Amino acid sequence: MRTFISFAEALDTVLSVAQRGPSESVPLDQALGRTIAEPVVAPSDLPPFASSAMDGFAVISSEVGPDAPPLKVIAHIAAGDVADTPVEPGTCMKIMTGAPFPEGADSVAPIEWVARHEHDEVTFSRAPDPGKHVRPAGEDVAARAQVFSGGERISPSILGMLASLGADPVSVTRQPRVAVISTGDEIVPASQVPGPGQIRNSNGPSLAAQVQAAGGIATGPWHAPDEPDAIRELITSCLSADQGHDVLVFSGGVSVGDHDHVQRVLNELGATISFWKVRQRPGKPLLFGSIQGIPFLGLPGNPVSSAMCFEVYVRPLLFRMLGREESPQTVNAVLARDIRKVDGLHFFTRGIASVSDAGTLMVRDTGPQRSNLYGSVVRANCIMHLPEAGDHVPEGTLVSIEWLPWADRVASDAGDSQ
Ligand code: AMP
Ligand code: MG
Repeated sequence: MRTFISFAEALDTVLSVAQRGPSESVPLDQALGRTIAEPVVAPSDLPPFASSAMDGFAVISSEVGPDAPPLKVIAHIAAGDVADTPVEPGTCMKIMTGAPFPEGADSVAPIEWVARHEHDEVTFSRAPDPGKHVRPAGEDVAARAQVFSGGERISPSILGMLASLGADPVSVTRQPRVAVISTGDEIVPASQVPGPGQIRNSNGPSLAAQVQAAGGIATGPWHAPDEPDAIRELITSCLSADQGHDVLVFSGGVSVGDHDHVQRVLNELGATISFWKVRQRPGKPLLFGSIQGIPFLGLPGNPVSSAMCFEVYVRPLLFRMLGREESPQTVNAVLARDIRKVDGLHFFTRGIASVSDAGTLMVRDTGPQRSNLYGSVVRANCIMHLPEAGDHVPEGTLVSIEWLPWADRVASDAGDSQ
């Protein structure tokens, strides 16, 4: 077991165990938020046929103009119709938006350009250029083009494109199943009024929500008191094959207190511990290993440590398991005010990033950062990564930030200093 390793080494170690899950087929109307499993190739052109972009007349443009003789209207083509004859010289066809563009014509004269329309004859005040108001086949996507490479999270717009391509059902990566296990004698469910010395379980529900926000399926949240037998029983039940868990996430009980039994119980059950303790704040006592081939993370119980360690370790792990393309993304922002830190520890400082009047991405901390102050997470829209070296990061430094996936990207309270 390694101990007191760097953030980079810890993250590499966690990600090295990630295996992309199998794919499964789901109806498109259930695919929002899922991850495309395989490349998607257009089976045909999109749009599939040339069509009119306007309500008007399909014409031969050289035959149209203020002084041109009238054209004979030989057909009306609505969306869904197909003309069975071509447009011959001296004729035209009335055509509606989205209707297939007929053979023989080269452009659409919009309805607004009609000078006179009597019986079946029409004249126009002006002529369209050849090709005008015609949507060519394949203008959006050409047949056989690869539209998605796999790994994209399905957004409403991606879902719309998949529908156009006929990808229903669609092949998506199976969602990893994550057991969320909190420990502690003092913990009661959120719906209960805590007795003396007790607190509500906030990590369980928030970690389960973080799992869902990251594209996984959370089971639980389970809870065990600080008793080795109870913890053993809960772990054993989470490991049973019918539970089908891909990851176990513990909160609490991984530190060095008299009642921190999680690591010992895992060891007794035959777990391999890869590392314990990382040179970071919050979340120094982070524990990582595997048991019966299933990776587990033991997150320290302080709510801020638990939330941050999830975002910087568990979310990227789940993204890898999903084959998601965008893991983990950082951008640079200018630090708006000094931050003091501990030399030798990588800091995950909760930040509020906003764009200044000059158009620069700025970031400031959310105020007091102690790991029991969950408000510092609630106010944040990003995590600042402040590297190990140094006890102080001066205002004006370019710092690396990672967006919190659930937060608004740009804070509305720019400039406000908490
Ligand atoms: P531990 O890591 O078990 O030593 O817990 C550290 C701190 O986090 C203690 O103050 C615990 O009461 C608190 N804590 C542990 N688990 C939870 C939880 N599920 N929800 C809220 N706070 C917790
Ligand atoms: Mg505890």
